[in-house]
Amino acid sequence: MTTQPVCKQCAKALNGDETAIYRKLVNRGASEYLCIDCLAAFLDSSRQAIESRIAYYRTTGTCALFR
Ligand SMILES: [Zn+2]
Repeated sequence: MTTQPVCKQCAKALNGDETAIYRKLVNRGASEYLCIDCLAAFLDSSRQAIESRIAYYRTTGTCALFR
């Protein structure tokens, strides 16, 4: 059984990048996640800052979560 991960705050369906960045920035063992918008609010950051982090981890390939 596979369940599509959803944001625990707004219930938006999440993609792999969103669950990966949540694991990376908040809790590596997370089983509940936040979407980029809610994560930005949670971290007192901006959506753009988080998206650029995702792009950074993707391009550098330094994080095993982004492969
Ligand atoms: Zn959300």
